[in-house]
Amino acid sequence: MHIDFSLSVNGLPKIADFCVVGSGPAGMTVALELGDYGRSVILLEGGGLHQSDESQDIYKGDVIGDPYFELDSARLRYLGGTSGHWDGHCVPLGESDFQKKEGFENAHWPIEKKGLDPFLKKALSILDIRQPQDDIVLDQEFGIKEIGISYSQVRFGEKYRERLNASKHVTYVTNANLTGLKTDGQRVVSVTATNFFGQSANVKAKHFILAMGGIENSRMLLWSNHQTKGKCVDPRAPLGHYWMEHPSFRVGHALVQLEMAKTKMRLVGLTDAVKRKLSTLDCRFWVRELPREGTQALVRDLLCVAPKAGAWAASRVGKNLVCGTTLFADWEQEPIWDNHVKLSETKRDRFGIPLTELHWKKTDRDLATLRKSLSQFNDYVMARNLGRIKFTNWVFSNDGFPDYRVTNDSGAGYHHMGGTRMADTVKNGVVDSNCRVFGQENLYIAGSSVFPSGGSANPTLTIVQLALRLSEHLRNS
Ligand SMILES: Cc1cc2nc3c(=O)[nH]c(=O)nc-3n(C[C@H](O)[C@H](O)[C@H](O)COP(=O)(O)OP(=O)(O)OC[C@H]3O[C@@H](n4cnc5c(N)ncnc54)[C@H](O)[C@@H]3O)c2cc1C
Repeated sequence: MHIDFSLSVNGLPKIADFCVVGSGPAGMTVALELGDYGRSVILLEGGGLHQSDESQDIYKGDVIGDPYFELDSARLRYLGGTSGHWDGHCVPLGESDFQKKEGFENAHWPIEKKGLDPFLKKALSILDIRQPQDDIVLDQEFGIKEIGISYSQVRFGEKYRERLNASKHVTYVTNANLTGLKTDGQRVVSVTATNFFGQSANVKAKHFILAMGGIENSRMLLWSNHQTKGKCVDPRAPLGHYWMEHPSFRVGHALVQLEMAKTKMRLVGLTDAVKRKLSTLDCRFWVRELPREGTQALVRDLLCVAPKAGAWAASRVGKNLVCGTTLFADWEQEPIWDNHVKLSETKRDRFGIPLTELHWKKTDRDLATLRKSLSQFNDYVMARNLGRIKFTNWVFSNDGFPDYRVTNDSGAGYHHMGGTRMADTVKNGVVDSNCRVFGQENLYIAGSSVFPSGGSANPTLTIVQLALRLSEHLRNS
């Protein structure tokens, strides 16, 4: 059943088994799953059925630190959430992404990959994709592998609206913004939903699941904590901290044998063994074929700076044995305390809730991950005589990261992770391994804000797997 909260704030069920807040990939999955189990669900969605300025404005905020996207363009605030304009790249996290890594104290999960594996098949069907091919080791000695990837076209609002309409158990309420949360210190008693005219109602449920995205989950919990004078999240928990992105830059051009660029685009990375040997986090490279003129320009450049290698390449171009490629990298950022979501002290949204202040920087250690991984890849290409790479100047200079707006790079992946990280203890995290907020018996978080580390995989497939795992955990509660 659909209720438009902007028409009336009355008519909500008196109480439901579950109240889910947010209808992106995380919240939509949890709500529909729990509904399918025959449990009653109220799904609160802040935005409407379509994008609107009044809703999008609530996503405004400031970023302190490295250049970053405008926060209200980096996510969407209406039915289906940010899946309304995502790219749909889907890659599962690997085994080592969950494990401890020497030299990186906080980059591991309290659960193993096998805890998520049972939910892969269903997550793929929700995203309407085939399982990405298993990674293929291209060279054991250098530890180079090709990474499997699938492309989803699912916009959750469009694809699942009919199922919401047909559900006997899910009441979805649009234009219903979570603006407050009441707790007795151990259990959440109700949440307040407010429409864009400022009218509110309390929503009661036995369990509450916040699925408002990788920045908003932190912001709303920080706000709830402020309102309840610290009764919502244990003050020892690192709420808002260890926030992460996937830095993403063009890192060079390469002339490679066709064998290396056998498809228009190839995704490669390092094997777990080599990452361990190099003590590095995860990094992957997109080898993307250039048009013919691009190849010719690269050969001309190479002839000037390295005539021998240039001659090697020139002699092959005509025979179509070599092609020009651009090399892009996106990689894992170390989770650090300093990267965090904070409540603005000066700016508020229309409901009087402080806007987001995101503190985000890439560090020298993040650069080291890129450099080590690139060097390894370069060694492989050279040793196997697969081609020649020309790195973009900043990568191995002391210039630091460039401003992505100037270099026309992506800069980052729009992947908002951390802030309500999962951990074994409240000192290290905000939620336990079942995604339950430490200190609250009936409050759960869905989405990438629970990721304690991000690997280099696009997060949404993992988000959906985690949402299914949470639903299974909750189905009998
Ligand atoms: C341009 C772009 C490209 C991307 N490409 C990829 C990709 O290729 N692969 C990939 O894996 N990921 C990609 N992502 C990231 C992906 O979109 C997110 O990982 C995913 O949408 C997160 O799902 P979510 O449900 O946790 O959050 P969201 O999708 O952000 O959904 C959050 C929901 O909560 C609602 N909400 C927020 N606040 C409130 C409130 N106070 N009250 C009620 N409701 C509220 C919002 O309206 C929204 O519906 C991309 C993102 C962008 C911006």
